[in-house]
Amino acid sequence: MSGRNGILNEIRRIVGTEHVISSPEDCACYSYDASRMQCTPEMVVFPASTTQVAELLKLANREMLPVYPRGAGTGMVGAALPGRGGMALVLNRLNRILEIDSDNMVAVVEPGVITGQLQKAVSHHGLFYPPDPASLAFSTIGGNVAMCAGGPRAVKYGVTRDYVLGLTVVLPTGSILRTGTRTVKGVVGYDLTRLMVGSEGTLGVFTEIVLRLVPAPEDIMTLMVVFPRLDDAARAVCQITRDRIIPSTIEIMDQPTIRAVEEYLHIGLPTDAEALLLIEVDGRPAILAEDASRIGDTCLRGGASHVETARSEAERERLWKARRAVSPALGRIKPGKINEDITVPRTQIPALIRAIGRLASKHDLVIACFGHAGDGNIHTNIMLDKKNPDELQRAEAAVEELFRLVLQLGGTLSGEHGVGIAKSPFMPWEVGEEGLETMYRIKRALDPLNILNPGKMFEPNRAFFRS
Ligand SMILES: Cc1cc2nc3c(=O)[nH]c(=O)nc-3n(C[C@H](O)[C@H](O)[C@H](O)COP(=O)(O)OP(=O)(O)OC[C@H]3O[C@@H](n4cnc5c(N)ncnc54)[C@H](O)[C@@H]3O)c2cc1C
Repeated sequence: MSGRNGILNEIRRIVGTEHVISSPEDCACYSYDASRMQCTPEMVVFPASTTQVAELLKLANREMLPVYPRGAGTGMVGAALPGRGGMALVLNRLNRILEIDSDNMVAVVEPGVITGQLQKAVSHHGLFYPPDPASLAFSTIGGNVAMCAGGPRAVKYGVTRDYVLGLTVVLPTGSILRTGTRTVKGVVGYDLTRLMVGSEGTLGVFTEIVLRLVPAPEDIMTLMVVFPRLDDAARAVCQITRDRIIPSTIEIMDQPTIRAVEEYLHIGLPTDAEALLLIEVDGRPAILAEDASRIGDTCLRGGASHVETARSEAERERLWKARRAVSPALGRIKPGKINEDITVPRTQIPALIRAIGRLASKHDLVIACFGHAGDGNIHTNIMLDKKNPDELQRAEAAVEELFRLVLQLGGTLSGEHGVGIAKSPFMPWEVGEEGLETMYRIKRALDPLNILNPGKMFEPNRAFFRS
């Protein structure tokens, strides 16, 4: 094995001296993500090609150096954090859109492309890349694929995994794997693409991504619907899809959220209402108006007190203003929060929301719920002051009860933020002993020396080198 200086020199030879950082002050800039946890890498390396990534991983195996792939560092669960020091492998120099093939509706991109920039580029071809995490203005496609990012449009269009056709992956040992096809159909062998999507940087480093595109919708309409009773809003979500209309988005805000946003923005939101739904439909203009009017009628019959419809960009933006302000507005209730992105089948939303209300009373907590009601993904924010040990303890007890409830309702502990470090203790609750064991065997087969993103996902529940 070489000493750290010898390793750094070899890395500089692979990627170029100016693409390696090793001073503690510079490395500190790569010590965090959006989880508010922190661990500092020993070095930060910026490769520019698949071959360089492969060489770096071979070196890391030889030197037993942990490697942590990183996109924009916007992850919510600490998945990119260098828990054991080693190398932060930042992929933002691999940032080219290599091809937009309009006829086959396919894009080939490098992982460091910013999601919003890809969406803009394909829109010039009349095409659409639907996954829309709220971080799309700054998160990368590589990070989105590794976390299987989703967003409000998932109710109609699905999530990142539904758009990844193929990948170039540098495996943890440094060999290069190509998965998938450029076609929608393709059933030769195991679906390694699907295995890699959502693998949170633990099974390989993506250096090229083939994405499926769809035709861009011609028009969009937005509705804001006021519900005096939360239960009615939750039931309306199911009724709309039962009426055979699939909106592109159904977002919900509960009363604590509405009140926080109104106090923040003063835009005349109905603070006595228990819920607001923000619903969007997209498609051909001739059909949209009819769909919007049917949705409005369904909501009014189901207990809504008011429906407002918007079609122009400016009017739609006005309706979205409240939803976009939720995060900063909630910050004014308490200095901290525990934000869980639990997800239940749509039909269980009323039961979930009632139970969250009971949890808030039982533990004397403010719990604000908002999010993607159309796909059952409710962001549940337990507001607290983390410096208050009693409140923190009550909040943690509430989280455990919430997780058990979500699983009883047939849901999942994370709809989009993933496991990383934050949710790893709870992995066995959802995937079970056999699920965990199977994932562990896959990880060990691909990464025998546990070089790539160690300490994440299922590993805290396993001693990695257990025989
Ligand atoms: C304000 C805000 C809003 C957000 N909204 C949403 C949302 O609506 N929906 C949602 O799903 N998420 C959301 N997120 C979370 C986050 O943006 C996503 O998880 C995103 O996909 C992370 O992308 P990134 O480029 O920042 O990746 P990073 O945070 O840098 O990395 C995330 C994971 O991907 C791995 N990784 C990164 N690049 C590669 C690669 N090329 N090959 C292999 N592994 C790689 C890392 O090792 C890590 O495990 C939000 C975050 C913020 C801060």
